[in-house]
Amino acid sequence: METTKENTAFEEPAILIKGLKKSFGNLVVLNGVDLEVRKGENIAVLGRSGSGKSVLIKIISGLLQPDSGSVQVLGEQVDNISAADLQRLRLKIGFSFQSSALYDSMSVRENLAFPLVRNKRELSAAAVNTAIEEVLHEVGLSQTIMQMPSELSGGQRKRIGIARTLILKPEIMLYDEPTSGLDPITCGEINKLIIKVQQQYKTSSIIITHDLTCAKATANRIAMLLDGKFLATGNFDTVFDTQNESVRSFYDYNF
Ligand code: ADP
Ligand code: MG
Repeated sequence: METTKENTAFEEPAILIKGLKKSFGNLVVLNGVDLEVRKGENIAVLGRSGSGKSVLIKIISGLLQPDSGSVQVLGEQVDNISAADLQRLRLKIGFSFQSSALYDSMSVRENLAFPLVRNKRELSAAAVNTAIEEVLHEVGLSQTIMQMPSELSGGQRKRIGIARTLILKPEIMLYDEPTSGLDPITCGEINKLIIKVQQQYKTSSIIITHDLTCAKATANRIAMLLDGKFLATGNFDTVFDTQNESVRSFYDYNF
């Protein structure tokens, strides 16, 4: 599968960011970020802890406001959008949180029903059930439907978290460290799921990770965040072929 190769056939961008800046008090986190995520593309964002990766995807999904710059998502300007338009846009953006963020007091079934009951009130009970069964099948966890989150493994929780975003059929997926804290075999399963989501749901995705194996397995291109900017963007081999010392040190640190 040619998932790590650049593909020039993608059309208008799903996400287009220009000159994005974001500080918290004196702390400059993003200092002129430019990024284009093409339709149908998976892009991995790499960077050390605290480099602003989570802040970046929170801005993309409208959870945080940028200080300046242009942030366009599915043709809409999220840096200048009404609350109603943002709410509508956010239904098209699936956010897979690092913690999975499942509701511990709800069963898997109830966790998956929640976004539908809340956002798609027109759906019948039968349609909700069908959607739950379908999405559980997609993530390979049909048998867990009546279980509580506390009864699931870390990898299963991650997959249910992803299923909960997929149930709204998002056009964009934002994965915040999808493989962190998982063993290598479970990481491999999550990587496969990310690729399956790209292919079956035709999503455009940002995968935040410092797991180079995950980046290589899932992303068409990678982008490396350093000192508030993207230092290098390209396919995996091109970026890591560079003689740039910061890129090399990241690579050496990981392997
Ligand atoms: P990471 O690359 O590890 O995901 P983050 O994007 O979470 O890093 O955070 C980047 C920096 O911004 C960190 O120093 C963090 O403490 C700071 N930060 C993130 N969110 C906030 C916030 N809401 N208020 C103040 N500081 C924040
Ligand atoms: Mg983070």
